[in-house]
Amino acid sequence: MENQKQKNDNIKCTVKQCQHNMVTDNYCTLGCISVGTHEDNPTVPECTDCNSFVKRTGCCNC
Ligand code: SF4
Repeated sequence: MENQKQKNDNIKCTVKQCQHNMVTDNYCTLGCISVGTHEDNPTVPECTDCNSFVKRTGCCNC
């Protein structure tokens, strides 16, 4: 059972595979997120990760 999620206007996100994504809109529903990197020396956006990501259950094959 999923509670009604509140969109956080301050955090845009298109990762609909994430449990915290609004899905109906490209926003996160968390009040705050944690961002990190998997690189020693990040140089482009692709080097960063949302560490608050949680895979949506029953969604997709990611
Ligand atoms: S937790 Fe991260 S990946 Fe998930 S919806 Fe929020 S910003 Fe996007």
